[in-house]
Amino acid sequence: IESIEVSIYGYNKVVAEAYLIESPKLIADSRSLRGSIYSFQGNFALALEDLITAQNLYESLNLQHWAIYNLTELATSYRRFGDPQTAIKYYNKLEKQYEKTGDKDGAYSIKTEIAYALEELGEYEAALSNHKAAYQHWRDTLGEEISAHTAVNVAGMLIQLHRQAEAKPYLELAQRFITPEVGASYSFMRLYQAQSALNEGRYQEALDYIDMAKESFQQIKNARGLEQLHMVHSQIFVAEQNWKQAYEALLSYIQTHKSLDATLQTNRTTEMRTRFNTEQIERENQQLIELQKVKENELIILKQNKYLELTVIVLGCIIMIILSIVAYKQSQKSKLLSILALTDHLTQLPNRRYTYSKGENYFKSKDEAHQPLSIILFDADHFKKVNDKYGHDIGDKVLIALANISNGLMRKQDLVGRVGGEEFLVLLPGTTAEQALNIAQRLVTTVESSNFDDIYINFKLTISAGIASTDGDKSFEHLLKRADDALYKAKSSGRNCAILDQA
Ligand code: GH3
Ligand code: MG
Ligand code: MG
Repeated sequence: IESIEVSIYGYNKVVAEAYLIESPKLIADSRSLRGSIYSFQGNFALALEDLITAQNLYESLNLQHWAIYNLTELATSYRRFGDPQTAIKYYNKLEKQYEKTGDKDGAYSIKTEIAYALEELGEYEAALSNHKAAYQHWRDTLGEEISAHTAVNVAGMLIQLHRQAEAKPYLELAQRFITPEVGASYSFMRLYQAQSALNEGRYQEALDYIDMAKESFQQIKNARGLEQLHMVHSQIFVAEQNWKQAYEALLSYIQTHKSLDATLQTNRTTEMRTRFNTEQIERENQQLIELQKVKENELIILKQNKYLELTVIVLGCIIMIILSIVAYKQSQKSKLLSILALTDHLTQLPNRRYTYSKGENYFKSKDEAHQPLSIILFDADHFKKVNDKYGHDIGDKVLIALANISNGLMRKQDLVGRVGGEEFLVLLPGTTAEQALNIAQRLVTTVESSNFDDIYINFKLTISAGIASTDGDKSFEHLLKRADDALYKAKSSGRNCAILDQA
């Protein structure tokens, strides 16, 4: 008993912890086990509360195996506490489960339990057919010795139904195998033997069986058996016309019956209370299951969020890539625009703005490769007449040809820009005045001897050039001014020549 108290204490802790972590399966397990112990202790209300809770949880969680185990405990608890009807309800459920799983032994064990409950309800025919079926099964599968216990049950029902002759062979089989150690089976076997002897008028024999049964029933403390026994005992004395003894046996019967009734009444009251509680229990269980579902949903949402995050990251990357491409293209475009802004659209040479800024850079540069800086400013001769005589289109083509000729003559580091309508500026970094004059003269003679037949047959063009080389100039503008002066001199001295500005 003490160890049971200890185990109840242990289970209370487990149950509390199961609720703390809100695990329906753990709650069901711990309450099922604690319920079995309460049932064994005779604590009806607590046992049922635990077992019903566990049952609902197992069924909701679809845990078949555990549901069957728990249901057996539940049904047996009802039978123990004198509610055969409810017990039968659960046993029927169990029997179906066993049949479904193909567990024949389990199904037939339940049949016997149902028969016991039917006996208590006074439904002897139904009980008999169940007992017979169980007897048949065990005899066929495990043999006569084991089936002897079920034979006692069959005999008991046949005697109740006054089918004396049919009961006899079952009692004889039982007598061959059942010994006093077996307890319940033995007690009932003796009781039925007594009843059988009474029915056949063998009173002394009946009384002997009654003595044997009584001793055994008392040993196993079976009040129900004793109740029946007192009745048969009284009937034997009545048959013998021994009124005094009959009266005493009847008194014992009434006493036993009363105390059994009292227990039954208490249990019924408890049961009513428990049934009332059941609704509450089911509601709580439903809440637990809902909670579990909510948790599962949360987990799903959490997973979905992860996907969403990933999607956002991937989309973000894609957008970034697109933006980079757009930005790159934009920068390429603006590069192109800036190139366009610095290029003369007709000749594709650097325009005036670019040429001047480059000239200023070279002028200010401390780089030895850029010093001294010389420049050639040249201008097409009488270009007005070209346009007048050949048309503006030819003039344009000639300008393009002139740009190509001059550009082709220069070195890699030199720069030829178009700084006016038919006026060009050549930047010659790291070039002395003499070298620049040479280059300019070569340019003048090259243009003069150039063939423009592909533009216009026998077309001739000359240019005039002014050269200046850095020599203490205060600015690039000043240098440019000197080149312009030289160009003016070239023009006024007959054109088609190059003149160096002597500082
Ligand atoms: P010079 O320089 O020898 O003194 O005589 P010029 O006739 O060349 O002198 P001016 O500077 O008076 O005339 C320049 C002419 O160049 C004016 C214009 O018709 C022509 N011209 C300027 N830019 C362009 C152009 O882009 N295309 C064409 N076809 N002609 C141009
Ligand atoms: Mg000109
Ligand atoms: Mg001009």
